[in-house]
Amino acid sequence: MTHPVSLVGAGPGDPELLTVRALRRIESADVVLADDLVDPRVLALVRGRLLRVGKRGGCISTDQQFIHALMIREAKAGHRVVRLKGGDPFVFGRGGEEADALREAGLEVEVVSGLTSGIAGPAAVGIPVTDRRASPGVILVTGHPGEGRTEPDWAALARTGLTLVVYMGVARAAAITAQLLAAGLRPDLPAAVVSGAHTAAQRHAMTTLAGLPACIATEGLKSPALLVIGEVAAQAAAAGQWPEVMAG
Ligand code: SAH
Repeated sequence: MTHPVSLVGAGPGDPELLTVRALRRIESADVVLADDLVDPRVLALVRGRLLRVGKRGGCISTDQQFIHALMIREAKAGHRVVRLKGGDPFVFGRGGEEADALREAGLEVEVVSGLTSGIAGPAAVGIPVTDRRASPGVILVTGHPGEGRTEPDWAALARTGLTLVVYMGVARAAAITAQLLAAGLRPDLPAAVVSGAHTAAQRHAMTTLAGLPACIATEGLKSPALLVIGEVAAQAAAAGQWPEVMAG
């Protein structure tokens, strides 16, 4: 008998932000395949076999095929398989590709949603991404679409007037900023960077759109981090205030 494979969101860091279902799946799994981004405190909850299958620096396409094959093999052997991903498995997590591969192999798939870092990360430093006084909506967008994939139309995004939350944007912040400025966004539009949200290494900085690249460099803010661009970013708490309380 095979069990459904669970694609589980581990949330941004702190295990208290796991859903009850995520915790149950993690604890009852025979084997857990975990990404790099999953917090060590969440990995510590694994009772079965833990396989770290992060692909930092590796050949992405080959590794992805390898992960699919591994999940399929383990599930077909009758094991309870959990595929554990940072944040939400269906937000920039390749969860869709994995679900397809599993279904094509004749397996059932269950998706256990998690808190995505693009919402919970800004919140950790006091930024409500859709505060209606400042923005009627939010766009979650990648700053790094991947080899051969289309770059987001930054000028079109700029025209929406919505809050932009950019995942995987730290390395490309200068290019993104330049395109948004060229599209007419104000240089003094508030912007914030939130790094390692809800982890032991959480840090953030508040700046302006024009100041974003320099801020990342001078503050030494590293991936994983979110760029938050829009009026709501001005609500980021001053360093040393609310964030520590929120992070518990
Ligand atoms: N599925 C994840 C996103 C994976 S893409 C989610 O829903 O959150 C990886 C990117 O997510 C990172 O480059 C970074 O932009 C963001 N990210 C993930 N965890 C983060 C965290 N704890 N703090 C800040 N950004 C994070």
